[in-house]
Amino acid sequence: MRIGFEIHEQLDTERKLYCNCPTDYRDVPPNTNVCPVCTGMPGSKPAPPNRKAIDAAVEIALMLDCEVNIDEPIHIQRKHYDYPDLPSGYQRTSLPIAVDGEMGGIRIREVHIEEDPGKYDPAGGKVDFNRSGIPLVEIITEPDLTSPEEARNFLRSIIRTLQYTGKVNPAPSTLRADTNISLEGGKRVEIKNINSVKGAYRAIKYEVMRQKRKKEVKRETRAYMESQMITVPMRDKEVAEDYRYIPDPDLLPIMIERAKVKEIREKMYESPHLRKQRIIESYGIEPSVAEVLVGEREFVDLFEKVAEEVDPEFASHWFKDVLRKVLNYMDIKPSEISFSSDQLVKLMKMIENDEITPEQGELVLREMAETPADPEELVEKLGLEEISREELNSAVQKTLTKNEEAVEDFKNGKGEALNFLAGQVMSATEGRADPREVMEILKDQIKE
Ligand SMILES: [Zn+2]
Repeated sequence: MRIGFEIHEQLDTERKLYCNCPTDYRDVPPNTNVCPVCTGMPGSKPAPPNRKAIDAAVEIALMLDCEVNIDEPIHIQRKHYDYPDLPSGYQRTSLPIAVDGEMGGIRIREVHIEEDPGKYDPAGGKVDFNRSGIPLVEIITEPDLTSPEEARNFLRSIIRTLQYTGKVNPAPSTLRADTNISLEGGKRVEIKNINSVKGAYRAIKYEVMRQKRKKEVKRETRAYMESQMITVPMRDKEVAEDYRYIPDPDLLPIMIERAKVKEIREKMYESPHLRKQRIIESYGIEPSVAEVLVGEREFVDLFEKVAEEVDPEFASHWFKDVLRKVLNYMDIKPSEISFSSDQLVKLMKMIENDEITPEQGELVLREMAETPADPEELVEKLGLEEISREELNSAVQKTLTKNEEAVEDFKNGKGEALNFLAGQVMSATEGRADPREVMEILKDQIKE
């Protein structure tokens, strides 16, 4: 089985690719971010391509280990096809900006830029051109993937890599991918309309099943129907000639200077792949923990800041098990964290030095994620000051008298009865007690 991808992502620029219209199309009424250029009016002339979009595509290409086509003219072509969202009848798409990359053992054939078409609603017959002309980066892989699972993992990690650059639209729904699949001895089938990792996985799974059942597989383009989770025929595979590519006579070719590439390379972020290797080596972290840490750039940035002052081994596990969990639970992205790294360091030191229990630390973290403040103040606010020995003893005593059955069970060798009792004590003391200490006192008092 051979699987390849063509991945499109919107580049995160303020202006469109060939005109000065803004790109915030989600927040404005239909057809307001438009001008004669991006609606394809006869006689309109495109402005030279948005330099920020080109630089962003170069950075993405470098992150994918591609070779940038330096100091040679990169023509912008017109790719002709008819669809209501494309009033000019052609889409402007550049020749490769970079080639021959690699990510996680999968070869990247090329990276180029193109313009997004408008948005056509077949049900109402209406077109919204706010999206028309927004810069896209397209990444084409070689068909090096060999299973739906591998394809899914690859797509996840390429999205993560793109997010790391900070140069693509952060909204997850902007991903659009086409995939091509061929089984041994079969023809290549292309599937369009994939807009999520899950969708890609399902589409490939379905297509493999379909192709295996067929005696003869046609070379064709199929569409993925998200709602039914199937692929349906779209058209016979078009060849390049069908698009009647011509260099756009209105635009000069793009030139990417060596100095510019050097400048981008110096300023760009480390790729997640390299970063994972580096943090494993420099902090002695387990690979599975490192994988979670590099999930988002802002998350691992925060970790490295904290690890300057807190034991990296402790910090790495705490980030993976507690911070990750709390952020997920509260639906906060690492880029949206509002507490400072100093506040986090202070909290983690309080846990490390046994000033508060890990359980209390988690409560403080939740509070801190919502309303950032000094963790010591939050301990006070939440009433988490250390519980006195007398108070704890009496809570244990009360729990034992109330739960005689569980005490008997424990005496008869049922270990889990002790966990139950400890849970009762923890809830009676509102989480202020240290669970390990509670266990000790419980055992002692039961013996007595
Ligand atoms: Zn425009």
